Amino acid sequence: MDYEIVLAKEEDRAEILRLYRLQKGREYCPWDEDYPSDETVSFDLSRDALFVLKTEGSIKAAVSIEEDEDVDRLGCWDKELAPGGELARLAVLPEEQNRGLARILLQFGMEELKRRGYRSIHFLVNKHNIKALKSYAVFGFRTVGECHMYEQDFLCYEKELSDRMTDTRRSKLITFPHGFSTRNGGVSTGIFESLNLGMNRGDNEDSVKENYKRFFASCGIGSRSFVCGKQVHGKNVMIVDQSDAREPYGYEKLFEADGYVTKTPGVPLVVFTADCIPLLLADEKNRVVAAVHSGWRGTVQDIEKEAVEKMLSLGAETEEIKACIGPAIGYCCFEVGEEVIDAVNELLKGDTDGLYTKKENGRYMLDLKTVVKKCLLRSGIREEHIEIIEDCTMCLPGKYWSHRYTNGERGSQAAAIMI
Ligand SMILES: [Zn+2]
Repeated sequence: MDYEIVLAKEEDRAEILRLYRLQKGREYCPWDEDYPSDETVSFDLSRDALFVLKTEGSIKAAVSIEEDEDVDRLGCWDKELAPGGELARLAVLPEEQNRGLARILLQFGMEELKRRGYRSIHFLVNKHNIKALKSYAVFGFRTVGECHMYEQDFLCYEKELSDRMTDTRRSKLITFPHGFSTRNGGVSTGIFESLNLGMNRGDNEDSVKENYKRFFASCGIGSRSFVCGKQVHGKNVMIVDQSDAREPYGYEKLFEADGYVTKTPGVPLVVFTADCIPLLLADEKNRVVAAVHSGWRGTVQDIEKEAVEKMLSLGAETEEIKACIGPAIGYCCFEVGEEVIDAVNELLKGDTDGLYTKKENGRYMLDLKTVVKKCLLRSGIREEHIEIIEDCTMCLPGKYWSHRYTNGERGSQAAAIMI
């Protein structure tokens, strides 16, 4: 089933309240007439704590990151795993039950808790609800205690958030489903351990497919097919739609491009990197998105400008476009030759103060992320709409694939975005 998981917005309120209402009175549902209420939803919206799973634009399930002192105060939680975050108000439409939606949302919620700095998850499950207990067995929660609250008997579930997590990075500016992968949380082995998303690197096909499933789930993307291509360090940005999407593999049949733009909902765009810059762009008002692979070669050909122009041709407006420059090799590690510096100077017409330094060996250190930012500014993107994820892939070889650090013996990161 194709789905998306996004932060709930004000316009989702009525649908969320309806979803809650439909739970009340069902077996094992601890909620009453007064709870959860309109105020509960307001509180969740005010602190960006409510996530909804949608298919074809309508809400099928929801979950919240809870702040409940009564639960926090329970004596059973492991102090070594503090702070623990609680997931609560997990609700699925009655007609959508038994399709795995609760598990998908729980997994996403755990990824979100980890992103927010929690070390463990706390989750209460009615101890008599055998179906739920069975369904959540796959997560390997530890039962650390029992409690009686809201007139029900609960098991207190706890789990550390470090194992089997993808650690997917997200933009603070973009709310469409999206993410930048790390090398963690996958099933590949050997030099591809563990989350390799490259299809042309000699990794086991089934492993890569499972890795995609996990990465997409952490992005809130519930699609099996997506758009990607053979990246050739050019400046070709393609306008794509559903007909260009495919399931993982069949890489040899792909078209050559380094960026994709779409206005079609439900079509994930994917680019691969392992030091080069993954760039995601979104105009959420006019509903146009782009994904770009921007190494130094693509950057000096101004692939950023290509991407922005293609977005405008689909109805985007420059002042609405938000951009996130993802994890890539940083100023600290990106050593280049003079030909690269010459090309950057030509691109930016000499406006290169602070972008590079010359080393004693005659080579240069280059701040490619800021070069990309400058290109975006020159294309008319507002400065406050440009975010840079500072992580350097070469400095953090345990977290990211770095082509230079591994001398090419590596898997690939992916960056994905979907309307
Ligand atoms: Zn570095």
